[in-house]
Parts: sequence; structure tokens; C-alpha cells
Amino acid sequence: MTVFQKIIDREIPADIVHEDELCLAFRDINPRAPTHVLVIPKKPIASLDHLDDGDQALVGHLLLVVRDLARQLGLDNGYRLVANCGSDGGQEVAHLHFHLLGGRRLTWPPG
Ligand code: AMP
Repeated sequence: MTVFQKIIDREIPADIVHEDELCLAFRDINPRAPTHVLVIPKKPIASLDHLDDGDQALVGHLLLVVRDLARQLGLDNGYRLVANCGSDGGQEVAHLHFHLLGGRRLTWPPG
């Protein structure tokens, strides 16, 4: 079981900023920006690569939650959304998640 599943199941604590029937959003334990929130589906999907065609509405929901959270968290100057996928993508937790990063000017390209 992944650490994110344990957060969904309330087996370990997290600083939750949003929850609904389909997803959970909580602050990253090792923030890389002043605002760093992870948005995850409650459905156990390992990565972007593991999405089914039937997950289309779920993914759309996650992105709309990101839009609303960015407003709620005051990211008026912009933000970045990152989904690391697989080993070359630097994914460490095998449960689909979007990193919502903001609160400072972010550099490009990533490392
Ligand atoms: P990734 O490398 O894309 O798989 O990102 C995993 C992220 O999960 C990292 O940014 C970690 O800091 C974060 N993380 C790991 N454990 C926890 C936790 N218990 N609570 C919050 N964030 C976590």
C-alpha cells in the first residue's frame, strides 16, 4: 500500500486542503515552493500511464479542482502543475498525483 493510500484511509495524517468524493488534496511534506499541494484521486491509479479511457471524467475533475485550489490558495500570479510519471519522470509514489506549485517564480527547464 502506498503512503498516499494511507493518507486517504486516514492511517497517517496530512494537511488536507480539499476533499470530495473523488479526490483529496494535501500539502506536500517536503515543499519545493511556498505553496506545494498534491492532488490525488481516491481511486488507486498508479500513474498517468495507468489511466483507463474510462477515467476521462475523473481526470477532468482533478484539473478543475486544481483550478479552484489555485484561486483558493491565492496563486494569482500563476502556478505550475507537474505529474511525474515512471522512473525517468522521477515518480517516487506509485499513486497518481499532481503537484500544484506556486508562490514564487519557478524556473524552467526542470532538472
Ligand atoms: P513524486 O516524486 O512525484 O512521486 O512525488 C511524491 C511526493 O510525495 C514528494 O514531493 C514527497 O515530498 C511527497 N510525500 C511523500 N510522503 C508524503 C506524506 N506523508 N505527506 C505529504 N507528502 C508526501
